[in-house]
Amino acid sequence: MLEGSCACGKVHFKVTGQPRGATACHCSQCRKMAGIAWASADVPEDQLRIEGPVHWLSLTDAARRGICPDCGAFLFWHGTNDPHISFALGAIDGPTGVKIAQHIFVADKGDYYDIADGVVQKP
Ligand SMILES: [Zn+2]
Ligand SMILES: [Zn+2]
Repeated sequence: MLEGSCACGKVHFKVTGQPRGATACHCSQCRKMAGIAWASADVPEDQLRIEGPVHWLSLTDAARRGICPDCGAFLFWHGTNDPHISFALGAIDGPTGVKIAQHIFVADKGDYYDIADGVVQKP
């Protein structure tokens, strides 16, 4: 079981299932929120247990993002009507046991880094 937390420690979460293939999202919203890409993996909603206050932010109708209201850590992404929910790999305490399997929204990525891990890239 994976456990994660935000930077200030007010939000904790537990992942009780096996996360699916991890993704690095380079879209402009993730770039602005995470500084570079946002790396996440997802599980069915009932396999993620969240403790503590989470601010749910909807930047578009497509999804809501879970953020710690105190430290601002971008922890969760939940697509509208999606039975799965994504959690930030960067928030996991200790090894994740997961490797990034795809890069998405690469066309929107910042020009200050290159992706050179050989993993599939989707525009
Ligand atoms: Zn926090
Ligand atoms: Zn994104």
